[in-house]
Amino acid sequence: MSFELRDRDLLGRIGRLRTKSGEVETPAFMPVINPLLQTLAPRRMREEFGCDIVITNSYIIRKQFGDIPDLNVHELLDYDGVVMTDSGAYQILVYGGVEVTQTEIIEFQKHIGSDIAVILDIPTGWDVPRSDVEYTVEETLRREEAALPLIEDSEALWVGPVQGGRHLDLVARSARLVGEMPYDVHALGSPTEVMERYMYPVLVDMVMTAKLNLPAERPLHLFGAGHPMVFAMSVAMGCDLFDSAAYVLYAKDERYMTVRGTVQLQDLQYLPCSCPVCRGRTADSLKTMPRGERQRLLAEHNLHATMTEMNVVKQSIVEGRLWDLVEARAKGHPQMTAALKRLSTYREHLERGSHGFKGRGVFYYDYHSLAKPEVTRHAKQLINNYGRPEGKTTLLLIPAPPEKPFNTYPGYLRLREGLQPRLGEINVCFAAAPYGVVPESLAETYPLSQYEIAEPLDHETREFTVEKTVEYVKATGHQKVVLVGGGGSFDERLEEALRSFTPSLLVLRPENIWNKETGEQVLSLL
Ligand SMILES: [Zn+2]
Repeated sequence: MSFELRDRDLLGRIGRLRTKSGEVETPAFMPVINPLLQTLAPRRMREEFGCDIVITNSYIIRKQFGDIPDLNVHELLDYDGVVMTDSGAYQILVYGGVEVTQTEIIEFQKHIGSDIAVILDIPTGWDVPRSDVEYTVEETLRREEAALPLIEDSEALWVGPVQGGRHLDLVARSARLVGEMPYDVHALGSPTEVMERYMYPVLVDMVMTAKLNLPAERPLHLFGAGHPMVFAMSVAMGCDLFDSAAYVLYAKDERYMTVRGTVQLQDLQYLPCSCPVCRGRTADSLKTMPRGERQRLLAEHNLHATMTEMNVVKQSIVEGRLWDLVEARAKGHPQMTAALKRLSTYREHLERGSHGFKGRGVFYYDYHSLAKPEVTRHAKQLINNYGRPEGKTTLLLIPAPPEKPFNTYPGYLRLREGLQPRLGEINVCFAAAPYGVVPESLAETYPLSQYEIAEPLDHETREFTVEKTVEYVKATGHQKVVLVGGGGSFDERLEEALRSFTPSLLVLRPENIWNKETGEQVLSLL
């Protein structure tokens, strides 16, 4: 296997991709290198920016330098890291065709020593009729099949692209069928325009559809994704590789990249960055510099911002806090927030990728945090594994104590003393946001013993907590249900919801819950 996983969070992972020129840690961003015009020398990119992988275009190289015997792409670029080459598919998208056959461009990529190479797929593009989209998907699949005998003996890793654009059924078909072929890496085509138009929710659907239909163990490349703002979310969806020329294209338009979006240099009064370009410079000194120098420095800043964000993403994976970063980055643009909401609908899939135990507290900020894997996992396990304990015919719901673990809080121990005579028949559970029900026996387990939630709860979190509690009560079918209220933020709403299907609901609202008398009062109700 050329790809080995080291750590994971959500569908994101830290991996090692082995190529014939060395290993690359993923997720990785590869700057697009124009072989004819290098704003930044690739060698410098590796030494000063940490770019261990770059991508260039084999179609352009063949056109310009194809006559040179023994041409080697590493020598041409003067770069000793890993080089991926694209096949000219992008030129098909832009110019409507290329003067090369698939066999020629595959042989050429082998000949120049590419480490990762792409077959000549047909990009779907945007705003094209469905019949055209179908053609790009079927023709790409046909070429992927036809390429197999040509790449069999190759030392390079080969990429099998997925097409289909916004037509999710076609993306699914494309991903499923190419996933059955022996490719090393997959790539999702045509998202550039989606990103340029800020259609991030569409991007979420495209990526998730591709990801869920591809073999999970193979790396996924997101073609043309180079804005640091989208890295956290894209990695959370399982993208491992990214490439873009945005760092230099934006610089030509005098645009300054940040994780919170892009700013026109002329609108900047301060430089919100401490990269080598911005450190010791002011926005004014940058603005008044000669144009060529300014654009080169802007490209350098943009590349620093891009590479730094990838490190932030990787550290978040290690900490098991990638979702927190996704939430933070989603504040960069309303369409990113919309994408976060869209991604939340895939919470079941995100949960499957995550570790069960992260060893640190889980933070809940607002309702966006409800999509965290810990919440999804608890809800699932509660219904599947922790039904009504044998012999316990009464469900007692008490509010979450102010300290964790709930079951060792002194006030709770006093209440429990009052229940002692009939504890054998009472299933004691804490009603706690955002989980809903926390059975006493699970209160010391992770993450129920280690989490923080921002109060007061927002409406969605209150409703979610009530809904999860109701699900548990319905699924467990106790003879009696007792709700001890404490004026908690969803207490009355919970009573109303339980009352609607439990006419015999018993409610107790003592002034101070945390004493023995409360337990005794519960017994007197039964
Ligand atoms: Zn900077």
